[in-house]
Amino acid sequence: MRFLDEYRDGPAARKLAAAVARAATRPWTIMEVCGGQTHTIVKYGIDRLLPPEIELVHGPGCPVCVTALETIDRAHAIASRPDVTFCSFGDMLRVPGSRGDLLQLKSRGADVRVVYSPLDAVNLAAAHPDRKVVFFAIGFETTAPPNAMAVWMARKRNLRNFSALVSHVLVPPMMTALLEAPDNRVQGFLGAGHVCAVMGTSEYEPIARRHRVPIVVTGFEPLDLLEGVLRTVRQLEAGEGAVENQYARAVRPEGNPASRRLIEDVFEVCDRKWRGVGPIPASGLRLRDEYRAHDAERLFAVADIETSEPAVCISGQVLKGLKKPHDCPAFGKECTPQTPLGATMVSSEGACAAYHAYGRHHEPRTARELPLLPLAGAPA
Ligand code: SF4
Repeated sequence: MRFLDEYRDGPAARKLAAAVARAATRPWTIMEVCGGQTHTIVKYGIDRLLPPEIELVHGPGCPVCVTALETIDRAHAIASRPDVTFCSFGDMLRVPGSRGDLLQLKSRGADVRVVYSPLDAVNLAAAHPDRKVVFFAIGFETTAPPNAMAVWMARKRNLRNFSALVSHVLVPPMMTALLEAPDNRVQGFLGAGHVCAVMGTSEYEPIARRHRVPIVVTGFEPLDLLEGVLRTVRQLEAGEGAVENQYARAVRPEGNPASRRLIEDVFEVCDRKWRGVGPIPASGLRLRDEYRAHDAERLFAVADIETSEPAVCISGQVLKGLKKPHDCPAFGKECTPQTPLGATMVSSEGACAAYHAYGRHHEPRTARELPLLPLAGAPA
């Protein structure tokens, strides 16, 4: 398939892996930021194609995974109300809160609906003025523009029965928090290409300079990731810390100015708690005061709901690159994609879910245990 197969070419992948092996003279730990990248790495065995000097660790870049447990409980509390129509993308419906998930709530009669765009929820509010329509607005900078557009549109149309439960998170403060943690192991980042398609690359320059850390904005296909690793390793070996753009086919340095203006108009920066990681200052977005009439957290007074994670879960250490999913005693036992206990098992993009889906129950002991999904052009 054009625009896909050329980024999954087996011989080209092996050439890039060989170039990484030639470039690496000592061990380096590199974190891919985004859950989509983690999924590709595990699915195609990219990490196992690389030389042993290069360790890839999996960052907190899955939006469903990092949505705080209390946010799920707040969604649950709002969706339980008989006067509410609660709208969400499908991937949030199966995320368990303290009292079950939204799908279970729907099976008990709550008006919970899957939408394919935030604007669908706005249109629902217009069509049903007797219902309080609430949209669950989560994610990184990538989903912030359409979610901002929904709130902006509801205000413009004076739809007082539309609100958003907002729990957006921002990538650069998370990267800074990881780098400044006393137990940090990350020496280079593969930046999330789609986030930079919206926000551009300038936010990463001060992080790269201050921490002397390579940040290579990278795409999501196998060759993107291998090229991202190669560029990162070359910088590390040369003692450099700069921002590079591997994903130039989608990312411009200035990002998408119209989307950035919309985010700026509707949202303001706030502190945010990340599931599995904890609170990070100035790492979230919330609605500005001008849009408070559409802020579900204020309208339904759910801000006080607090919860805590199961003690057995080590997803915080997985998300900081300190442990791998199969190091967790609950992995594949009490905790599976059907019965997730923690952040990184709740969505298919989470590291624990990816390891579970592709049979990574332990580190490989023999070459026979290195199954890769065939890349295009590679021998089956
Ligand atoms: S396997 Fe489950 S319990 Fe263990 S770290 Fe992953 S999400 Fe947490």
